This record gives sequence, structure tokens and C-alpha cells, in this order.
Amino acid sequence: FRVLGIETSCDETAASVVALKAGGVPEILSNIVLSQIEEHAAFGGVVPEIAARAHVEALDGIIEAALADSGTDLSGIDAIAATAGPGLVGGLIVGLMTAKAMAMSAGKPLIAINHLEGHALTARLTDGLAFPYLLLLVSGGHTQIVLVRGVGDYQRWATTIDDALGEAFDKTAKMLGLPYPGGPNVEIAASRGDPSRFAFPRPMKGEQRPDFSFSGLKTAVRQAATEISPLSDKDVADICASFQLAVSDALGDRVSRALSRFRGEFPDIAAPALVVAGGVAANRQIKATLEALCGEYGFLFVAPPHILCTDNAAMIAWAGIERMRAGMTDPQAMDFVPRSRWPLDSISAPVVGSGR
Ligand code: ATP
Ligand code: MG
Ligand code: FE
Repeated sequence: FRVLGIETSCDETAASVVALKAGGVPEILSNIVLSQIEEHAAFGGVVPEIAARAHVEALDGIIEAALADSGTDLSGIDAIAATAGPGLVGGLIVGLMTAKAMAMSAGKPLIAINHLEGHALTARLTDGLAFPYLLLLVSGGHTQIVLVRGVGDYQRWATTIDDALGEAFDKTAKMLGLPYPGGPNVEIAASRGDPSRFAFPRPMKGEQRPDFSFSGLKTAVRQAATEISPLSDKDVADICASFQLAVSDALGDRVSRALSRFRGEFPDIAAPALVVAGGVAANRQIKATLEALCGEYGFLFVAPPHILCTDNAAMIAWAGIERMRAGMTDPQAMDFVPRSRWPLDSISAPVVGSGR
């Protein structure tokens, strides 16, 4: 069957049709993503009101394009899946209300999807991964390590206690006068810099607590940047390179802890996998660090294509398919109210007989 997915939780307006073919093989029939980067660039970050209005203006056209691209119209769709949280409420309302109206008028079931579940299940769409596996989600709004045990069965092992990693990249870029979005520009500058010039902190490194922290690192970058005036291109490049090295190192430490824990909890899985998702996963140094770690710990490193790592609607349609297939759709979906906060582990089925 075929599911139409709709995603409007942040600054991407997206729609996609994903089919489940005979034998359970998925196929992405269309995947349209309109990024609002240019609308927000002048403000150095996502402005919620601008985002909501841009979704209103773009969504109908994006859905039409996704349907046209897939070679079907609404009558050929078996269900509609829309992101219902977490995210910016204005955008969520636009996407979920549109999905409700379409579901109602076409008489199709609606599936309310948790955006993070979309990220968590993408590796099954792209690589057919079997449960359980580990997910590292590193985006502008999230920095988490999640144990993916099954559809609707997630356990968060680590999260950031302050900034998200993408946010740290974006703020670093802003402090150094680099354009928005920061991540790619910090990476480009870093490639010309000397990573040994600044000894930035590696927050949480070696600590027992599994979580992430990036605000101390951000403060250290600010300090370095204000001590030098004016900042030359070389200074900026050196700060970026030193920042990126500190981030890779800190991230590697946190992830290696999780890989060990996974090994301890699932000693019988011969070839476990670590999946990365989120915009920061595009960073080559971070990717290389994670890939090396996986090699060291005997993990398969799974990095879905960039377009499916950042926000998109194919992952939402796919999560809808997974939920339908598992018989886990919510009959009350038409009454679902968008949630700005909606932790992934809160939708997990209760684990019977487990102390955790
Ligand atoms: P979320 O998915 O958490 O709601 P989001 O829309 O910000 O938030 P994404 O679109 O997945 O998430 O990712 C955007 C983030 O990724 C931005 O913070 C951006 O700076 C960062 N990013 C993109 N490319 C790179 C890169 N090459 N290196 C580091 N960070 C990057
Ligand atoms: Mg985004
Ligand atoms: Fe996302």
C-alpha cells in the first residue's frame, strides 16, 4: 500500500509518498522538501511565526507535487501520516490540520507521527535494518542516543543537558560572523584551519552520566573569539577547526559509552548497528570519528543519504507504514492535538518484567 507523509515541524515543508511493495520492500515514490533557510537566514535562526506562515503558503503545492511525482492521486493513497510533534506548534498545526482535512474528505485513515520516530525508523526504510539498533540523532533541535527496540518501542539513553549539537554549530558560526546555517560554514572554515591552536574543553568526556553538554564549549569559543580582535580569516578557521575537533572528540566519548552498553545488554547480537540521523550527521569529521569508533567496537555504521537524515516527509510516511504494519495506529488520531514537546520514549509500549 501507499502512504502520504507530511512534515512541517520546523523549517522544512515536506511531503512524500512511500509504497510498501510485495515482500515488504519499501519504495520512495516521491520526496519533496522545501527548505525555508533563506526566509530565516537574515535572522540567524528559525523564526516560528515566519516558519508557520511559510508552511501555510507552501504546503498545498508541495503535497500536490508529491502526489504528482508519485504517479498517484489521493484515491491511490491508503493512509495519510503527518508529524504531530515535537516541534514548533504553528507549523505542526498547519501540517496536522491539512492532513486531517484530507483524511476526512477522502475517507482515509490518519496517522499522527512523532517526528523523532520518523528519524528513528529511517534506517529500516533505507537499509532494512532489524531491531534492535542504536540511533544517534544530532540535529538543530536534538542530540540524543536512542535504543530502537521496535516500532513504538524506544529507550532514550542520552540527551543533551543544554544546547543541541547543531545549535552549538549555529551559535559558533554566528559568533564568528559566518552565515546561517552555521554547520556547513563552520565545516568549510575548519577545513582550512589548525585544530591544535585552541585547546577547547571536551564537555562530559569520561563522565559516568551518559548525557551530552555543549554550552561550556560554546562559552570557550566565545572567549577565544573575543580575545582576538579583529578576527582574521585564519583565526576564524583555526577556531572552527579546534571547535570541530573538540566536538568530534566529545561526541566520540559519549557514543563509545553507548556502544559498550549495547554490547553488554545484547551480547548475542553478532553485528549490531549504529545509525546516525540529523543535519549534523553531514559533517565529515564527525562521520569519520563515528565510523572509526564503530570499526573499533565491531558495529555496522549506517548513515542514510543526507536528504533522509535531515527533516523530510519520506520518514514520516515510512513511520506511518511501520505503524500500520504493526497494527499500532491510533483510532483517535483525528482528535490528536499537536505537541511541541513529545519525548520519544513516552510513546514506548510498557516493558513488562523489566526493571528499567
Ligand atoms: P530538528 O530536526 O531537531 O527539529 P533541525 O531542523 O534544525 O531540527 P536538521 O534539519 O536535521 O535539524 O539539521 C540542521 C542542523 O544541522 C543545523 O543546526 C545545521 O547547522 C546542522 N548542520 C548541517 N550541516 C552540517 C555540517 N556539515 N556540519 C555540522 N552541522 C551541520
Ligand atoms: Mg531543519
Ligand atoms: Fe528532525
